[in-house]
Amino acid sequence: MEETVSKNFIEQEIEKDLQEGRYKEVVTRFPPEPNGYLHIGHAKSILLNSGLAKEYQGTFHFRFDDTNPTKEKTEYVDSIKEDIDWLGCDYKDHIYFASDCFDRMYECAEFLIQKGKAYVCDLTPEEIREYRGTLTEPGKNSPYRDRTPEENLDLFRRMKAGEFEDGSKVLRAKIDMTSGNINMRDPILYRIARMEHHNTGNKWCIYPMYDFAHPLEDAFEGITHSICTLEFEDHRPLYDWVVQECEFDCPPRQIEFAKLYLENVVTGKRYIKKLVDDGIVDGWDDPRLVTLSALRRRGYTPESIQQFMNLVGVTKSHGAVDMAMLEYCIRDDLKLKRPRVAAVLDPIKLVITNYPEDQVEYLEAKNNQENEAMGTREVPFCKELYIEREDFKIEKPKKYRRFYVGNEVRLMNAYFVTCTDYETDEDGKVTTIYGTYDPESKGGNSPDGRKVRGTIHWIAAPFAKKAEVRLYENIVDEEKGVYDEDGNINLNPNSLTVIKDAYVEPALEEYGPGDSFQFMRDGYYCIDTKDSTKENMVFNRIVSLKSSYKPS
Ligand code: ATP
Ligand code: MG
Repeated sequence: MEETVSKNFIEQEIEKDLQEGRYKEVVTRFPPEPNGYLHIGHAKSILLNSGLAKEYQGTFHFRFDDTNPTKEKTEYVDSIKEDIDWLGCDYKDHIYFASDCFDRMYECAEFLIQKGKAYVCDLTPEEIREYRGTLTEPGKNSPYRDRTPEENLDLFRRMKAGEFEDGSKVLRAKIDMTSGNINMRDPILYRIARMEHHNTGNKWCIYPMYDFAHPLEDAFEGITHSICTLEFEDHRPLYDWVVQECEFDCPPRQIEFAKLYLENVVTGKRYIKKLVDDGIVDGWDDPRLVTLSALRRRGYTPESIQQFMNLVGVTKSHGAVDMAMLEYCIRDDLKLKRPRVAAVLDPIKLVITNYPEDQVEYLEAKNNQENEAMGTREVPFCKELYIEREDFKIEKPKKYRRFYVGNEVRLMNAYFVTCTDYETDEDGKVTTIYGTYDPESKGGNSPDGRKVRGTIHWIAAPFAKKAEVRLYENIVDEEKGVYDEDGNINLNPNSLTVIKDAYVEPALEEYGPGDSFQFMRDGYYCIDTKDSTKENMVFNRIVSLKSSYKPS
């Protein structure tokens, strides 16, 4: 697939900045808040930012934006790091914690106070809201707005020292209560909150607000292009105000792009967390989710995610992308890389009546028909085999080319076999079919030019390994859409099907958790990293072979 050569709007901005000498180098960052696991949307931001740094020989920073202790946990810090490493981003030793800069942020706040650009305000949260005005009405000044820098400095230091109750005072920027942009109406910079922080413990009882902390973090690290999603567009004037008033040389600039949305897929951290907390899924890495840990467990590769992002591109307008596009990317990535093996998910037995009772022979099979370099393997063949129930019909449907009594079919890499009979249990369910083979057709080649129209896969029954196979569908009921009227997720009751008694060929015993394969004629599967053991192998279906997406 060809990659688009035209530059996206962010690349164009960066090149202009470099040409005009606004910046001498490019430093980007990915700043996750450790309040959940990363999802496919975050991967877009990660790969965009790290990709730009690479493209312009710059530096990519990975920063935990951990300034809000209420929802943050070290579990999330660990998982985020694992995901970023998995994606293969190169942040070298540029890993930062925003909370390591609390002292410097505090100094910036004092600096603003001394400049007369920030003040301590005693209004209650309700009053602050009231004074802020609305989209159509200007706000009005707080009665505390004209406190002197000395008084503000004294009060702010006492806020820090823990002299005041939570919520009783805040530090605010002194900008413009009549601004058309509500974010500029004297936004709060610091609040009092006695909370334990995962990094700084109980050292602080005041914490900076996101809109103050974020531009400072960028400026401290020497970020040039602070690339974020569109919902921060209205915050950009405040971002610029903070870095200007704090008087940084060469301050960073913010550029916004549209978030990635997948059609009928739950992406918001908040919603994923609810599925986890309600026990609807098996943790943050349940393969039905689109967190990066879930996609990894499902069998997606970093390469497939990168290719997906290349296809999606970077824009300034929202549009949902079809999940089928991501599925196309994983199929495309695994197609030539992974072995193609036999698995029978719904087995019936095939007995070859003219094959010697105790004989076993080993037949050569290509590991990947489209990639000779992957070599061959030996597969055992004998009198009793397992085949898919689907590959036999009592009543032959139109155009059906597989087994029915009287029909000759090719067993892949093995022999031509003609079906002669079948057996059912008391419910009429087929248990065994019978057939005769043509010894002259070894390797699946016609001995005399006669044609067989159907080719099916099989596993020698005594050698077959029993396995559990998990089939996934969207966790969302696509007919109904993601959310119902109350904002709850419309769940698809069939999102998980567990097959306990599937069979896979013996060669799979040599593989371990995370390895993936094509199960011939079916789809791509991977060995589950959480539940699979040597004795009880568990396979996740990554994606079926059938595709509803065609790249343009
Ligand atoms: P969510 O909305 O899923 O809770 P978030 O925006 O709260 O995600 P953060 O940890 O605050 O998550 O975000 C880290 C970075 O990832 C931010 O720069 C954010 O803009 C970006 N990001 C989050 N979701 C997406 C998305 N769907 N597409 C692109 N970038 C995203
Ligand atoms: Mg967030």
